[in-house]
Amino acid sequence: MGSVTRQQASAWDFDAELRGIDCAQLRRRRRVVDAYDGTRLRIDGREMSCFCSNDYLGLAQHPALVDAAREAASRWGVGATASPLVCGHSRAHDELERELAEFVGMPRALYFYAGFPANAGLVPALATRGDAVFSDALNHACLIDGARLSRAELQVYAHADAGDLDRRLRASAARRKLIVTDAVFSMDGDIAPLRDLLALAERHDAMLLIDDAHGFGVLGPRGAGSAAEFALRSPRLLYMATLGKAAGVAGAFVAGCESAIEFLMQRTRSYIFATAAPALVAEVLRASLRVIGEESWRRERLRELIAMVREQATLPAGWRLGTSTTAVQPLLIGSNEAALQAMEALWQQGFWVPAIRPPTVPAGSARLRLSLSAAHEPQELRRLLGAIAALRLDAPRG
Ligand SMILES: *Cc1c(COP(=O)(O)O)cnc(C)c1O
Repeated sequence: MGSVTRQQASAWDFDAELRGIDCAQLRRRRRVVDAYDGTRLRIDGREMSCFCSNDYLGLAQHPALVDAAREAASRWGVGATASPLVCGHSRAHDELERELAEFVGMPRALYFYAGFPANAGLVPALATRGDAVFSDALNHACLIDGARLSRAELQVYAHADAGDLDRRLRASAARRKLIVTDAVFSMDGDIAPLRDLLALAERHDAMLLIDDAHGFGVLGPRGAGSAAEFALRSPRLLYMATLGKAAGVAGAFVAGCESAIEFLMQRTRSYIFATAAPALVAEVLRASLRVIGEESWRRERLRELIAMVREQATLPAGWRLGTSTTAVQPLLIGSNEAALQAMEALWQQGFWVPAIRPPTVPAGSARLRLSLSAAHEPQELRRLLGAIAALRLDAPRG
């Protein structure tokens, strides 16, 4: 074979790329869900108990929301037809924005069709060349991508470390300083030191953008979110949250003072150059806000389930419970292989608890990410905790 002319290697060998992904045990596969019924999912004819959704309040199939969707579809049809700055901004969107602002106690809100593009657009609208973005080491991918798109200098501060952030802000000569952080960290469930961060923003003439994807609906009075939970109020604060998680629907919003939101509407490219979410989605979200505010038993149920995990979980040797007090409860394992093995063993017993691996989390910190929902019965969680306590896994290699 040596004498045969070798085919010139192409830069586009996807099969080789995929083999690399397989070798690192990082191949992701989708499961096709045939039916959703709260936390019970039907997959390939099997009913699975799901601990992997972000439907923290159990609203994704709430009858009031489903009715609102039917009614809204007959009134508005299904497509928004254009971007919000052309003819895609309906009365439904407008009312929703007013209600979102009121819900979180801020002067004005701007609604986006999804959270990822919201942050990927907001950060570049706020910071550019000559500015600096200060980003928590464990922030969500969309904040990181937003920072990269902005062309501002990126300063990654140690996770939840206000002292490190303070030093970096002090040392920075950037014209504008923007601090960005998850409020509740998506893979660890812990909460950022929001009061300290806001105080730093005020002290250093910086702006603080918080992403409350996992706090909105869950934390704060009536589910108003992390900013309300910690009574944060300041023109330095921009509050962003997503609406596909606890709110059970889709989309996201950013709230802040009137002029900041007007500016963001003028400058956020992912807002300006994207088709608006369907009006029916906006109507369903309005129904969702009512339910979030009124059905406080859902937050109480969630607190009860969180306490069960914190107080009753018995973990296999070498595993560790995170410090989270929220609906995201990571069971830290370490190796990708052991995390996958645990996921598979639980799957065989009818539980779907996802293994989270790098690059979603730092190398060596693979985990099971348990997400709890008000739709879980305490008995269902008790059975899962029993199955976890009884797991017998091969000793991890290496
Ligand atoms: C899920 C998530 C997003 C993305 O929101 P989508 O509406 O799903 O696009 C953004 N930030 C955080 C922290 C998230 O967990």
